Amino acid sequence: MKIICIGLNYVAHIEEMKNNVPDEPVFFMKPDTALLRNNDPFYIPNWTESVHHEIELVLKISRIGKNIERKFAHRYYDEIGLGVDFTARDIQAKLKAKGLPWEKAKAFDKAAVLSNTFVPKLEFKDLKSINFNLNINGKTVQKGNSGFMIFNFDAIIENVSKYVTLKIGDLIYTGTPAGVGAVKIGDHLEGFLENKKMFDFEVK
Ligand code: ZN
Repeated sequence: MKIICIGLNYVAHIEEMKNNVPDEPVFFMKPDTALLRNNDPFYIPNWTESVHHEIELVLKISRIGKNIERKFAHRYYDEIGLGVDFTARDIQAKLKAKGLPWEKAKAFDKAAVLSNTFVPKLEFKDLKSINFNLNINGKTVQKGNSGFMIFNFDAIIENVSKYVTLKIGDLIYTGTPAGVGAVKIGDHLEGFLENKKMFDFEVK
């Protein structure tokens, strides 16, 4: 199982990061050791001063595929979950400045929070308008809607599968909306997908 993450997929987030809008999807990967499930606490690693939360819709791949055409992409995922792409922002900034890969900032242990439950695609009224949000200590800090993605689910699958074979159980984190920020010890994070609570855990 592999975890593929899309970067820079919401304009407002690109603006807050002072990046340029990409002309094709940007992706990176996390290993399976990055998963954090069951509402287990997240421990801030001792080598970073700034771990940011990035709330993201997560696709679960249901069929093996390579070079998938956009018009068939919808057949390759049948459930949507919610996750947090934890990012050591200080480390990422240093790596970015040197043009180096981001893995130390993105792929570390427990950096991929994932909801235990996934919602079948058919339960959504419109895949192009899925609401989700992240609350910290009871306050909404990030609010997203899939309609604001630059590359929608099918465009992502088409592009990623050009380079990487998708297999059953693979996860695609589809990018974060604006409002990213640092978490601190004692924070209580809750993720909602269309008002359904998907995860609830603490930062330690
Ligand atoms: Zn992300």
